[in-house]
Amino acid sequence: MFVRWSRYFLPTRKDAPAEASPRLRLMLRAGLIRRLEPGLYGFLPLGCRALEKIERIVREEMTELGALEIRLPRLRPAARGNGLASKDLHLTDGKGRRFGLGSSHASAAISLIGGDVNSWRDLPLLFCCEGSGYRDTVGSWAREFPLYEAFGFFADQGSREETHRYMLRAYSRVLARCGLGFRTAEVPNEASEDGSSLAVVVFEEEGDEEIAWCTSCGYAASRCLADVGSPGPPPGTEKALELVETPGVRTVEGLVEFLGVSPAQVVKTFLYVGKRGTVGVLVRGDHELEEEKLRRALGDRSLRRVDDPDEAQAIAGAPFGFLGPVGLSVPIWADKAVRDIPAAVVGGNREGYHYVGAKAGRDFRVEGFLDLRRVREGDPCGRCGAPLRIRKGIRVAELLRMGAAGLTFSDRDGRVKPVLAGQYSLELHRLLEAVVEKHHDDFGIVWPVEIAPFHVVIAVLRPDVPEQIRVAERMASALGASGLDVLLDDRDRSPGEKFHDAKLIGAPVMLVVGHRALKRGEIEAERRWDGARASFPAEPTEVLHGVWGLLRAERG
Ligand SMILES: [Zn+2]
Repeated sequence: MFVRWSRYFLPTRKDAPAEASPRLRLMLRAGLIRRLEPGLYGFLPLGCRALEKIERIVREEMTELGALEIRLPRLRPAARGNGLASKDLHLTDGKGRRFGLGSSHASAAISLIGGDVNSWRDLPLLFCCEGSGYRDTVGSWAREFPLYEAFGFFADQGSREETHRYMLRAYSRVLARCGLGFRTAEVPNEASEDGSSLAVVVFEEEGDEEIAWCTSCGYAASRCLADVGSPGPPPGTEKALELVETPGVRTVEGLVEFLGVSPAQVVKTFLYVGKRGTVGVLVRGDHELEEEKLRRALGDRSLRRVDDPDEAQAIAGAPFGFLGPVGLSVPIWADKAVRDIPAAVVGGNREGYHYVGAKAGRDFRVEGFLDLRRVREGDPCGRCGAPLRIRKGIRVAELLRMGAAGLTFSDRDGRVKPVLAGQYSLELHRLLEAVVEKHHDDFGIVWPVEIAPFHVVIAVLRPDVPEQIRVAERMASALGASGLDVLLDDRDRSPGEKFHDAKLIGAPVMLVVGHRALKRGEIEAERRWDGARASFPAEPTEVLHGVWGLLRAERG
């Protein structure tokens, strides 16, 4: 089978909105997607072809794992408190009943099997499900997106861990077939049992995921929760605590200049209010506080920084710039690096004053020393001490361990136990995006063969010349019959435009049917990924042989 471009809907564009990311612009220009509203995209026929090829690969790998396909409704009622999150889309129907659209079908999958899983004999179970996810996150290009999920239900940890490993291997095969490498990284996830999940991230120059990655031991985690090692103590020896006058000096830089200390000897004090009251939080002057780490460590997602000067004054008795841990009446938590400072500069809790020579544990009580620092490039890895690198990436998949909402089964010994569950999700739009980011050049997309929407574009230079069309159609039929997807460019456009568009949409092979080569009895070919050129006798069997040869060659 082949498709005639003149009867296909494949509008290419010279320009795309500047505010979109480079890969999104390319997807818009190459006629894969169109933006309907901010955060809402539709897939054009070419985009659908690419998605279908990716879906086919995913389905094959899921079948290989033995996952059984199910279908689930997108809507779920909010009434039973079944995990509607604030980031989900909330809807109300005409009768006032509330529903949600979420980023996962997990709760529906649990409801689906809930009444039918009773015994250890029913487990394990593995399902896969195609659908749409919804997200209300700022910075996410698509609020509604194509999603391929799998759900596992298990009687014990061992069987869940085994499926986790198999699923990761399946994802790695999917990505390899899409021409992508990846890393796994721990990322925060509220839906998970332990507050985090394993993300499959494709590293790219441009990406909205920041991953701290250790080149030595391979440890990788979302920047906001990556373990960071001790930077070692700053210079100095223990001294007696002393209150000194620091008129108008409110910043770390100001103290460095005024007192002649290094930023690492200064301690910054923040106040946070959460569900268990107010706490003080300390980090070194040359470090930044990572709020996600603080919220996770204290188990309180409601923690918010006190930023009202009156509130701070009421709690500490001093304005911002002079807050400190000495004599502070609220529980204090500190970053690990604060423990090692022999003589620290801290706020005096009195306007115009700081303490020098302060020592944690001696001059002020600390409830606990935690890892609260925001990771920077070059910080020591929390596992091995080697320098961490910060890389950007695109998160394409996520694996997490979750509870099965009270689902139980009776085990071999007759005891009733909770069902364990795993959720595995692959965001197809992110995968497509990562492919475009990874496989493109200045002229357009350079599709890996296995997921190319079209394998071959046949550019007919003069579609008004019957001989050229006749030859092109014969070649297209032969190539199509051999299993290749062929786009016959019979549009009334200039050769230049046809070459430009063929490169933009990125088919691995372009065939050119033109007067000069036909006179020699030949058809010219060009391979997209390396520009390799060839000429084949204008006979279907010769062209077929030649095109397959071009496609099968090892891609550097
Ligand atoms: Zn390491």
